[in-house]
Amino acid sequence: MACYICDKHQAGDGVIAADDLMVLGHVLPDLADGPVYLGHLVVEPRRHVQGLADLTPDEAAALGRWAAAAAHALQAEHVYSSIVGHRIDHLHLHLVPRYPGTPRDYWWPRLDEWPAAPRGGNAEVTQLVAQIRARLDAPGHDR
Ligand SMILES: [Zn+2]
Repeated sequence: MACYICDKHQAGDGVIAADDLMVLGHVLPDLADGPVYLGHLVVEPRRHVQGLADLTPDEAAALGRWAAAAAHALQAEHVYSSIVGHRIDHLHLHLVPRYPGTPRDYWWPRLDEWPAAPRGGNAEVTQLVAQIRARLDAPGHDR
């Protein structure tokens, strides 16, 4: 059965970093049908599983490590995280940074409704992915 996330892993689209168990990526402008909120990352198990309850202990540990490392690399004022899963039945943990200066009225869950929120298309996402990858690779960054 076709799965958007399994296909994405296969193609390598939006991938920032990965290991045997998890893939860290940035949401793609094509799925969102236009510019996306910059820094909206997803941590996804390589294995096609639906929910947290389906993870092995090693996958669960890896999910936590990747989420923490990604949140650190985002260098945001705060990082929100959530698992929703209404559209795609392959587990994915959303990580959404709140940037300094975001008005209180637009804090979670309205971050991307802020007219001045940083958004971008493929070029901006590619640039940010490179920055985040460099921060993840910086010395002293365990994951
Ligand atoms: Zn899948």
